Amino acid sequence: MDSDQSSVPNCFELLSAEPLLVVLIGPGGVGKGSIARALVAHDERLWLSRSWTTRPQRASENGSEYHFVDRATFERAIDEHRFLEWAEFHGNLYGTPLPDAEGKDVLLEIEVQGAGQVREEHPDAVVILILAPSMDDLEQRLRSRGDSEEHVRIRLSSTPKELARGHELSSFVVVNDDVERATKEILSILEELRQQRRNPSLKD
Ligand code: 5GP
Repeated sequence: MDSDQSSVPNCFELLSAEPLLVVLIGPGGVGKGSIARALVAHDERLWLSRSWTTRPQRASENGSEYHFVDRATFERAIDEHRFLEWAEFHGNLYGTPLPDAEGKDVLLEIEVQGAGQVREEHPDAVVILILAPSMDDLEQRLRSRGDSEEHVRIRLSSTPKELARGHELSSFVVVNDDVERATKEILSILEELRQQRRNPSLKD
């Protein structure tokens, strides 16, 4: 991946100092997407970013999951500095468009290279690593998405590296043993962080 985006203006200047920037990371199949959707359904102060990708739409997807574009379109958007972060992951490009969150807390669901970019630009970002209860469970979830066996194997092969980087980047680790339970745990983390923002003396 070409991660040198030094010519890109500091996109985070577009975010007010107040809102939280929350980044969900974790290996493929861990359920980040389900948790992200549950979080915004439960908390109207959260605004979920819709990423762009060059990967083909899965048969199980309805098209709302991403803004699906071809590579030329994505690369043009990079040149036009339209991404907060972007990364190449297993041969496809993924990127977060500049947020239009109108003061809400911004929620991203991205992989670790992008999260590293976000962290560098915005050290205050709240990075939450989502883990599966076990590797067996993760493998089963990856298989259930209907991807080819080869794709599943490729995704599993990068899991240890993703996890190692994820632990380096994250401030919180949440196990997705149950989407509702994991969502509640994250909602209470966010509530505590908001209280700390309102009253910094609560920070230990
Ligand atoms: P999938 O192809 O399985 O939907 O996603 C592959 C990986 O890309 C997942 O870890 C997902 O979180 C990540 N991803 C989705 N959107 C973005 C994005 O905008 N930026 C980055 N860096 N990663 C993304």
